[in-house]
Order: sequence, then structure tokens, then C-alpha cells
Amino acid sequence: MSSPNAESTAFRSALEVIRAVEPRIADAIGAELADQRESLKLIASENYASPATLLAMGNWFSDKYAEGTVGRRFYAGCQNVDTVEALAAEHAKELFGAAHAYVQPHSGIDANLVAFWAILADRVESPALRRAQVRQVNDLTEQDWFALRRELGDQRMLGMSLDSGGHLTHGFRPNISGKMFDQRSYGTDPATGLIDYDRVAEAAREFRPLILVAGYSAYPRKVNFRIMREIADSVGATFMVDMAHFAGLVAGKVFTGDFDPVPHAHIVTTTTHKSLRGPRGGMVLCGPELADQVDRGCPMVLGGPLPHVMAAKAVALAEARRPDFADYARRIVDNAQALAEGLLRRGAKLVTGGTDNHLVLIDVSGYGLTGRQAEQALLDSGIVTNRNAVPQDPNGAWYTSGIRVGTPALTTRGLGTAEMDATAELIHTVLSQTTPGSNADGTPSKAKYVLDPALADKVARQATDLLATHPLYPSVTLA
Ligand code: PLP
Repeated sequence: MSSPNAESTAFRSALEVIRAVEPRIADAIGAELADQRESLKLIASENYASPATLLAMGNWFSDKYAEGTVGRRFYAGCQNVDTVEALAAEHAKELFGAAHAYVQPHSGIDANLVAFWAILADRVESPALRRAQVRQVNDLTEQDWFALRRELGDQRMLGMSLDSGGHLTHGFRPNISGKMFDQRSYGTDPATGLIDYDRVAEAAREFRPLILVAGYSAYPRKVNFRIMREIADSVGATFMVDMAHFAGLVAGKVFTGDFDPVPHAHIVTTTTHKSLRGPRGGMVLCGPELADQVDRGCPMVLGGPLPHVMAAKAVALAEARRPDFADYARRIVDNAQALAEGLLRRGAKLVTGGTDNHLVLIDVSGYGLTGRQAEQALLDSGIVTNRNAVPQDPNGAWYTSGIRVGTPALTTRGLGTAEMDATAELIHTVLSQTTPGSNADGTPSKAKYVLDPALADKVARQATDLLATHPLYPSVTLA
């Protein structure tokens, strides 16, 4: 452990150096820390990276070009980048028990693109090249090239529907994945809100996807990856899991056995900045069969690697391998369950009736509100959340009927189950005291709301009090 003094000095010195060039940026960085310190952050996809992780990003690795992979670069002088990338991959493999790790993706979306391409190349392009007896697409005849493009364009993907908690990149129209693949989705059981594996199997039998995707942004339950793999195998699909949200729970061994995607999926993608608590970025894990295709990520679909971010990934992954990370992961779930119980006890309606991961999805129609109204009313009261569709949402993806709350960030700050109950009280107070507003012509509005500003101020003060005993980055003083 570094001394608190060293951490403070490092950030202060960095700001002094930046201030000498562009003081407004130094001010903005300082202001961001102040804002983060003061807000009750319940965004399920955010966290607070460690000082070591943050500091690993601000250095001369940022200046290096390093297209290619370890030991096979398109640029000279990458020996130190090789050290960094190899270490990050080694930590990732050890942490998740994966045969291969590719740590270059700049984000979760990029990691998914790398995986999609690797699967397409492995399942469609490479066999087509072998059939045509050539090694590269450039060597194909015009006719074979058009046939291959048609074949690539004909591929199908089966993923979780957006309103059940799936992610845009799992084949949805507004995303490139929806243009690359013919997509169909599986939803959740309308009565329970849970994945119905028999229905997934039925959809797979009918649709015969090339890729079956599991993983979510807003599903508050565990997924049985063993069953999903059996479904994929029964139709010859490649099974991909996007564990962007719950990677920290896999790393911390809260999700094991059937609920750990790594032994069951052909390929796993993730972000590194959500529950895993690393720098913003992505990663792909796979077996040896897909490793070569995955390693073609840059320059196939990614821009040049970010060696400074890979350095920070190595630091964060080293942290996640320490025993205290398992304790952190367990507390994330304990906190989410305490928050869910606190909300239920006060009468809130929760999708699936609770949680067994890091997030809770509140159906705010129970309070007579849209997600948009609830999100803003909570924000006025110092509580940062995001609106989210609920299954079969009558208000669509923009206004929504849900509020998603998550515990990774507050757990990093040290808040525990008692504070989660207090947080549930604050959320319930705001939502039960907010009423829908009207448009100028008297029609009901899905965005406007009425909340007594004095109540919002009172809740905001209570939220600040709740945080006061758990300061963010206590080691860092900038003044
Ligand atoms: N996959 C899932 C399941 C996500 O929830 C997200 C982001 O919220 C992503 C991928 C995209 O990650 P990024 O924003 O890093 O591209």
C-alpha cells in the first residue's frame, strides 16, 4: 500500500503541472472530484477506481503506437508496451481462469465488436476462404467475394431483449450489431420477470442463430450459463456472454459454478470500469480456438491500443486478485439486497421482486411516475440514478417506467447495509412525494413533475450526511 501522503502529493502535483498550461482543466478536474464526493451515486455501471489505477493512466505510455499484439507489432520499440499488455492479460487469465485474454478493447462496445468479428471470421470467413483455396479475402475472385459478403450478412444473433435488460450491442437496430446481424430476442417471463430457459431454447430452435448472447445491463438476477450453453450447443450456435456489468462479481467469486460464464461460454466480453473497478475499457476472454481471431481486434475493428489504459487495467486486475476484492464483491450484493429489502418494505415495486446481483430495478409506475420524472426528482434531491425500461414498458425506452440503482460505487466508498436501508428511505420519500406534472395545455406530461423544493433540499442534506462518514478518496486532499 502506498502512503496516503504519496497519493495526495501525486494528485496535487499533477494538478499543479496541468494548471500551469490550462488552469480551466485543472479546475474542472478538481470540481469533478468535489461533485463525486458529494453525490449519492447509485448508477449501477459506475464505480471509483483506486488512486493507483488512476495514476497508471497519466504517463508517457499514452504516446506509444502499438498496433498488433504482444511480440507481433506493426511498430518498432514496443518492448515496454509488450510488458504491460502481457501483464494485464496474465492477470486477467489468472483472475477469471481463462485460457486467453485480449486486453486492448477501448470499451465494452469495442470488446463486443471484436468478439462478433472473431466469431464471424471463425465460423464463416475462414471456412469460405478454405473452400476457395485462398488465404486472404484479397485473393478471392469477385464472385466468391460477393458470395462471402452475402453469407456474412445472412448471419443471425439471439440476445436478450432491451426491455428485459439486454444491451443495445446485442443485435439491436440502432446499433451496428443490428445491421451486421439478423436479430431476434428472448425476453423474460411476464409473471416473474425471470429468464424462461424453455422459451430461450424454443426461440433458438426456431431461429437457429450463429451466436447466442447472454448478459445484461438491467437484469437484477443471476443467469444460469450452463443451461444457456446447452441451448447454444443444441442448435450449433457460438455462446457469447457479455459480463460487462457483473465482471466484478465473477472476479470476486460471488458468481461461481453455473453462474460463472467463463467455463461455459465460447467467448466472454466485459468492461473493466463497472463492478470490476478498473479504468474505462474492455476485454475479451476466450479459449484457444478463437484466440487468433480475437487477437486480430486491432486493426480489424479497433483503433490503436491505449497502452496507458492497459497499464491501468493491469493494476486494477492485480487489485482484483487480492483477497479483499472477494469481500468487496460480496458486500456489493449484500448492499443491493439490503437496498431492495428496504424499498420493498416501504412498498416499492421491484422487477423480479428483488435482486441477486449488484442492481435493483424499481418499477416507478407503482408511484404513478415515469422513469424520467423519477430520475429528475431524485437528482434534485442529491441522488444520482438512471431511468431504465422495465419489461414490456408502456413508456418506451425514452421516458421508461423504471429506475435502475446499483451498489458497486457506494460499496467502494464503504457504505454498508444500514446505510442502504437509509438510502431506501430517501428514495421512497422522494418518489412517494413526487407527483406527475402537466403540459401548458393541461395534458399529462411524461417528463414534468411536482416536488416540493424544501423536501428535495432536506433529502439532499440527508444524503450528504450519509456520505460524510464515508469520504471518497480520503487519502486525497487537493487544497
Ligand atoms: N455491454 C453491456 C452489458 C453494458 O451494460 C455496456 C454499457 O453500459 C456495454 C456493453 C458498453 O460498454 P462501454 O460503454 O464501455 O462501451
